[in-house]
Order: sequence, then C-alpha cells, then structure tokens
Amino acid sequence: MDKNLNKINDPDLEAQIEKVVPFHGYLSTGAFIGIQMLNLARNLLDIKEGERIFVTCETQNCLPDPFQILRGCTIGNKGLHIVDHGKMAATINKSAENGEKTIKAVRIVLDPEKTINYPVFHAWYMNERKVSHEDAISELIKADGDVYSWYFIEVPVPVKGKKNVTICSICGESFIAEENESLCKWCANPENQEW
Ligand SMILES: [Zn+2]
Repeated sequence: MDKNLNKINDPDLEAQIEKVVPFHGYLSTGAFIGIQMLNLARNLLDIKEGERIFVTCETQNCLPDPFQILRGCTIGNKGLHIVDHGKMAATINKSAENGEKTIKAVRIVLDPEKTINYPVFHAWYMNERKVSHEDAISELIKADGDVYSWYFIEVPVPVKGKKNVTICSICGESFIAEENESLCKWCANPENQEW
C-alpha cells in the first residue's frame, strides 16, 4: 500500500485512507472505490463536513465501509442501506428538510465503458484474472474519477410511522407489525426462515 500512498498528493484522501484501513482491515480496491464515490458525491451534492448523509450501496462487498467510518452512515442509524444487486454502485443524498417528500440524490456507478480505458483495472473489475489491490488502486489513482458515471434522481423520504408492536400469537415474541398482522414473519412463513 505504501507504494500507492506515495502516488497520492491529496492530504484529505490520505487521511481518509488512514481511517478506512483499520476499520475495513486493509485498503481493498472496493473500499478505495467507496472513498472515491463518497468524494464525488461530496462535490456533486455540495456536502459539507459534518453534514448527515444517507447512502444505499448496491453491494455488500467493501463499498459500504468508507461511508460508515468516514461519514457515520450505519445500518443501525439508517444512514446505510444495502440493496445487494451485486453492483459497484451507490446512491447518496443529504437529509431532507421538514415536510419534503423527496430529496435529490446522486447515483454513481463504476462504469465498464470507462474502466475499459484502464485495462489492468478493468481486468480486476470484470474478474478476468488475478489483479493485486495495489495494481488496481494504482490505476484508480491514475484515472482520478474518470471511471465513474452518475445521474441525479429524486428519492422518496421515508415517512416515520408509529411503531405497532405486537405479540406473535404462535411464538409469543414481540415484533413490529407492518400492518395489523398477528403472526411474526417467521411463524407466518416458517419455510422462509433466514439466519
Ligand atoms: Zn412468531
């Protein structure tokens, strides 16, 4: 990694990497992509330091971690949402003002039509052969954001409803009912239990 850090002339990016490495375990290519997507979104949405953001990551692989450690977006505080489409893509937005039903967001995608211009990185992306994280990240540093495509969308602001806490009539455990159902999801669909 030191080899790559030497190529970075941006103290802000260096500080970000120093925080991501112990959190994620090492600087993976996916985590570096997450950092770059975050920084792109900061510019595109004019996100200020300390301002709360929300992110939906379309893969669980690496990408969510920079958003967690650098911006405090977690699953528990609902700042991080994972919709696992197996895509290197993320949608980012700021907090909505009171009463707003939708909010401007940006969806950023690692674009194969652009990564093709960086053959070593493209080979990593398409999993064509084994490419080291060092080599893949070197190309990302060289590309300097030139591998992403994005567009703006309006996303709905979640409405906070009253929690309808119910006791399941089979297992006796309490759960938050979505409507007025009397069985928890496990008891309603025992064959669909997931661990
Ligand atoms: Zn139950």
